[in-house]
Amino acid sequence: MPISALTEILKAGADDPTFPEVTVWKKSHPGGKAIGCLPIYTPAEMIHAAGMLPVHLSGAMGRLKLDNADAYLQDFVCSVAQSTLELYLDGFLENIDAVIFPSICEVLRGVSGIWKRIDPDKPIIYLNLPQNYNSGSASNYMISELGRLKTELEKISGSAITDDALFKSFELFNKRAELLNKLDLYRSDYPGKFKASEFYILRLAGRAIPVEEHIELLQEALSAVEETQPRKRPIARIVLFGAFCERPPIAMIEAMEEERIALVYDDLFPGMHWSKDPLPLAGDPLKILADHYLKSNLHTPVVNHPESSIGDAIMNIVRARNADGLLLATAKSCHPMLHDLHDIFATSEKQGIPYVKIEFEEDQQVFESIIVQIEAIIEARERMPFAGTDRKEGSGDQK
Ligand code: SF4
Repeated sequence: MPISALTEILKAGADDPTFPEVTVWKKSHPGGKAIGCLPIYTPAEMIHAAGMLPVHLSGAMGRLKLDNADAYLQDFVCSVAQSTLELYLDGFLENIDAVIFPSICEVLRGVSGIWKRIDPDKPIIYLNLPQNYNSGSASNYMISELGRLKTELEKISGSAITDDALFKSFELFNKRAELLNKLDLYRSDYPGKFKASEFYILRLAGRAIPVEEHIELLQEALSAVEETQPRKRPIARIVLFGAFCERPPIAMIEAMEEERIALVYDDLFPGMHWSKDPLPLAGDPLKILADHYLKSNLHTPVVNHPESSIGDAIMNIVRARNADGLLLATAKSCHPMLHDLHDIFATSEKQGIPYVKIEFEEDQQVFESIIVQIEAIIEARERMPFAGTDRKEGSGDQK
């Protein structure tokens, strides 16, 4: 089956606010518990090792009218916070037995308090992630937080999370990360064969299914990509940055692809393949998870690497992916992102890498202005190509 046919089938359910995957899982696991994970990082391996189902929650992707959340949150709050709360208020998360809120920003901290007030009996776990990766205390602090999380999850599942179970989970999550990394490179090397929108749908399809099933799906997708006949080569290669938390509509990425603009990198779903390095399969599992989190070279505005600038990190990606420029697509009202914009703009200008900046909302339906702005990058490249565009295109792509 070609990759387009596979992802077309998955697309219909990829943003279904009713989370039918959880209902199916619960039917086959009587008494099983599903744990909601807010963006951007939760050690899902630990939930899996407890025999529970991690469910990645990140808004409603424009599928819900905000009839209730606006009573709790101001208009200037990002869509992902509003619509995740709306999902809860509208009863779509009844199958979710507890929710983990990682400490990524003040907005999610506020939502966690509201969540608790709405139903004090529904467990929530606030996971305090270290804010400075280089601090000498970061590792011990993270290990103690992971220990606390483990105890909370054991209370919910009713059984101990053993080291053996953790290592079995690490192995599976390593396998998934390896497949995601392969697919990520494939869409960069052969953007005419495998589109970013298809890669996006494959990640969305894994939001609430067991990792074992997601692995099977990704393996099938990899074979499908290899068998796919080349489609037209894109006219521009763009790096998308800024969608680490709120998810842009799939239609936004498809609209770019219609104009033969390929996203050769994006920061969607960072928690699914947090580090390029696999989790080691021996040692102290909590220390391994802490190191995995702290030693990732992933840069996002909610992760602080004091030794290196986020602007440099993004420009390095633009060059490594032989991209024509950067699309800085930020969720509306995302304060952590606003904090880093100056550094990204200044670095981009200093290094001569063209960029455009847009704001998106998850229910956005019109994308012409984004396309017009990206065309400015293409024009800039034609006037003065920067060093990064000396690329080797995927040989399978048609001109
Ligand atoms: S989009 Fe930004 S402000 Fe909103 S929850 Fe995510 S990090 Fe926080």
